[in-house]
Amino acid sequence: MSDLTPPIKSTNFIRNQINSDIDSGLHSSVITRFPPEPNGYLHIGHAKSICLNFGIVKDYDGWCNLRFDDTNPAKEDIEYVNSIKKDIQWLGFDWNGEVKFSSSYFDIFYKCAEELISKGLAYVCFLSADETREYRGTLKQPGQNSPDRDTSIEQNKTLFKKMKEGDFKEGECVLRAKIDMSSSFMCMRDPTLYRIRFETHHQTNDDWCIYPMYDFAHCIGDAIEGVTHSLCTLEFQDNRRIYDWLLEHLDQFNKSDRPHQFEFSRLNLEYATTSKRKLKFLVDENHVSGWNDPRMPTISGLRRRGYTAASIRDFSERVGVSKVNSLTDVSILESSIRDDLNKTAPRTMAVINPIKLVIENYPEGKIESLNVPIHPQNEEMGTRMIFFSHEIYIDKEDFIEVVPNNKYKRLAINKEVRLRNAYVVKATHFDSDKDGNIKTVYCTYDPDTLGKNPSDGRKVKGVIHYVESSKAISAEFRIYDRLFLESNPAKFDDLSSSINPNSLEIKNGFIEPNLSNAKIEKAYQFEREGYFCRDSESEGLVFNKTVGLRDTWNQ
Ligand code: ATP
Ligand code: MG
Repeated sequence: MSDLTPPIKSTNFIRNQINSDIDSGLHSSVITRFPPEPNGYLHIGHAKSICLNFGIVKDYDGWCNLRFDDTNPAKEDIEYVNSIKKDIQWLGFDWNGEVKFSSSYFDIFYKCAEELISKGLAYVCFLSADETREYRGTLKQPGQNSPDRDTSIEQNKTLFKKMKEGDFKEGECVLRAKIDMSSSFMCMRDPTLYRIRFETHHQTNDDWCIYPMYDFAHCIGDAIEGVTHSLCTLEFQDNRRIYDWLLEHLDQFNKSDRPHQFEFSRLNLEYATTSKRKLKFLVDENHVSGWNDPRMPTISGLRRRGYTAASIRDFSERVGVSKVNSLTDVSILESSIRDDLNKTAPRTMAVINPIKLVIENYPEGKIESLNVPIHPQNEEMGTRMIFFSHEIYIDKEDFIEVVPNNKYKRLAINKEVRLRNAYVVKATHFDSDKDGNIKTVYCTYDPDTLGKNPSDGRKVKGVIHYVESSKAISAEFRIYDRLFLESNPAKFDDLSSSINPNSLEIKNGFIEPNLSNAKIEKAYQFEREGYFCRDSESEGLVFNKTVGLRDTWNQ
């Protein structure tokens, strides 16, 4: 076993807890689990939980299990199981041994339920859903005992067996723990342990028609796997009482080193939702093209958008772990990806709103090849070939007829500008269509300015990007805005009203020829425009904008 001294990483209350459990000799290593319910794709909030659960064990010579919490067959699907495995591995983590499923413990759960019944600690209850609610009482008023609370142990055994054998209808009865109908914790007022569902399960087919509740299955699953620290989000704080009560009342699990639950705050991201139900709504109602739409805060959406696994791990580290619920500024996520891509993304030029620039004193038919760096700060990334000729494309935004003020650094009539990696040019005149839209700009170039300043000492401040027209390749650019108009869409139960109708803008322009075989999902820096990556779901050359070069939201 390796050194278990506390890690140097920034500490948090979970690390402190683990350190103290190791120091006291309670545990000698740390075992965690990530327990997704396979009822949707993973999102950025799950990424935080994954980085925490899989990340923390690395510092303590422990491991993390992947356990699908598959106790509700009605909403689950194997498609989700597969996407979840893929996303975790893509994030750079590996689970311990085989993938685990709560459903593989169904026999054990059933025996545990029988044990509680035999101890007079569980009973079959026939109250309807409405009656159960009424009997539960309120925060101010204690609940009332169910009329079935005093059914004999023998009778409960028989009734529970009948539940399992399908002798009752869905909703006719449930198995409940006999705890305390006047507890100040509502969840301790005889919580449901098992319910009837005539559903085919993706792992156990039609073997079962009774399914355990999360609160019952989760703590037992943790105990079976020897989990030491069961990390979950704050909304389960009260449920920790059931977790402890159940393990303390089941003989095989009531041990000093049994698992304990610790809660941390959920990640909520501005202008996004981290509710799987709401993400599913966006998909089902066609507000987005699917779970991996680049506007979605899902791991698969972020990947398709050009986010790297390293940037998401870095983001999780930056937001940290606490017990305070808050809304995380989306600029933190964006600066994580920007910092990563600034170092790693190859540079290239793309013209998103093209207009033609004709260089009148450059010989027609001549094409010059220029060898330019792939990354100006990293020579090791090598060079790429670009071209220059009589006719090139520049961006519409980079030309204006009359210089508006002395801060303006782009091209204008009689104003000089440098073409990135090439020559200095000066605009002379332009053509526009009948609506006044500029179509072609004409200019002259200074042949003595390739890679150097004008020899007579003229200062040329502005630099614009371009693509040579005969070698340019057409491409589509998808530019994304926030999916929601509200920074906290969670405020609205009906999301439709806060969806941004203009979250996707499609442009058609040109890229350098060396991007014709751009790798999918690998981000490039389109100089002066931002980071873009080739879309994984499109046939042709379609590029998704990952993020701009700087934070423009807060300006
Ligand atoms: P559901 O409402 O379907 O239960 P869920 O968001 O709780 O959704 P799970 O699949 O149960 O999804 O989550 C798996 C794990 O990820 C849990 O341990 C959960 O606490 C954690 N998790 C989910 N959402 C977030 C979030 N926004 N921030 C941090 N952790 C999260
Ligand atoms: Mg959950």
